Amino acid sequence: MKRTIHFTLVVLLTAILTMSCQVEDPSNVTVVKAGLLIDGTGNPPLRDVLIFIEGNRITQVTQQEEIPPGATVIDASQQVVMPGLIDTHVHPGDRANAGPSAEYRASVIQHLKQALAFGVTTIFSLGLDPDSNFAIRDESWGDDFDGSRMLTAGTGFTAVGGHPTQLGTDLPNQIDDPALARQRVQELAAQGVDGLKIWVAPIGGLPVIKAEVSRAIIEEGHKHNLRVFAHLNTAEDTQTLVEAQLDGVTHIAGDSYEEETIELMRRQGTIVAPMLVQKKKGLVFSEDRELFEDPFVRRVLGQELDELKEALAQTSPEALERMAQSYQQAKENFVRLKNAGVRLAVGTDSNTSFAPVGLITHKEVETLVEAGLSPMEALVAGTRGSAEWAGVSDRLGTIEAGKLADMLILEENPLVDIRNTRKIVKVILGGRVVE
Ligand SMILES: [Zn+2]
Repeated sequence: MKRTIHFTLVVLLTAILTMSCQVEDPSNVTVVKAGLLIDGTGNPPLRDVLIFIEGNRITQVTQQEEIPPGATVIDASQQVVMPGLIDTHVHPGDRANAGPSAEYRASVIQHLKQALAFGVTTIFSLGLDPDSNFAIRDESWGDDFDGSRMLTAGTGFTAVGGHPTQLGTDLPNQIDDPALARQRVQELAAQGVDGLKIWVAPIGGLPVIKAEVSRAIIEEGHKHNLRVFAHLNTAEDTQTLVEAQLDGVTHIAGDSYEEETIELMRRQGTIVAPMLVQKKKGLVFSEDRELFEDPFVRRVLGQELDELKEALAQTSPEALERMAQSYQQAKENFVRLKNAGVRLAVGTDSNTSFAPVGLITHKEVETLVEAGLSPMEALVAGTRGSAEWAGVSDRLGTIEAGKLADMLILEENPLVDIRNTRKIVKVILGGRVVE
């Protein structure tokens, strides 16, 4: 009897040891030693943390374990580790030439690389993607892609002749009929979009998509488990779409939200990407001229930085004053959203004027702090908040066991000065260091 127990124990122990060896073969393990960890959940930062990575995933975040011999160690013990930033609103690539050409493809990939260099490890391409971009999206989630991960809404929805078709793009679905809208949603779902985009944009007297069409898109989208996002300019349109169960707002309204709208957003968990940088426009750069001397920004942006400087020189003081006013109005709305506890994300409409891909994401995080968020709240908006907005918080947005290992190593603490998000030493993407 005793012998049988002994034998069983030996077999069991061997089995356990074999199992744990398979899981923790040290040569497959990377350990990031973080001096300070900001994990993206909003919890207080932790000192001296070990982040275990196997393959492309985080397996453990601990202050107790020893580093297994043979593991690859990334020493950030004098530095700060945070999740990669996620930008919910980007238009990568040379839009004037959108299509299957090799040149256009290269321009999209170039923007994904630029985003990654700035520590933006995931972007949502919001509504102007030709079909050829689905392949780039797929590649961007592979284990050897050296650019940010891409999500796509394929082609977004607008009214016939609505914004942004006046900018010379015929990519959007121009639809005035709810039944047609539903059909198009089904097609986009079959193509594998990551979400749906609607423009509700009374800009320059252009026709605006009908509320019944927006409602049909949201309802049909939800049937296909797709989150629906809307470009919204007015408080009234925001109320209409939030009532229709919209998931994500992109652009804060230029006029005052009704209390009822804010309460509804809070209750329904609608996430708002306020995109304050789109109100500030050139002001973002006129207030931070040191940026033009920053060697890191210079190295990544190259000629684009000179073009930015030139565009700023061409901007009149009156134009800057209008930007300041439009920002002040938006800020009042923003403070009300924040005080009500509405969930927030970071988006930028980057690769439009005064919005260089990657850099502008940091400027939005900074502007959220300027407008009233604590640095921690702004970092959460740009990581977990954006992941929730985009519907990928099961995989991304925080440094926790089970998530993809996308993180930034920073030279200095962004909780002390939010501009430190730009002091990037290393970017880790799916467990790989991409310097
Ligand atoms: Zn946009």
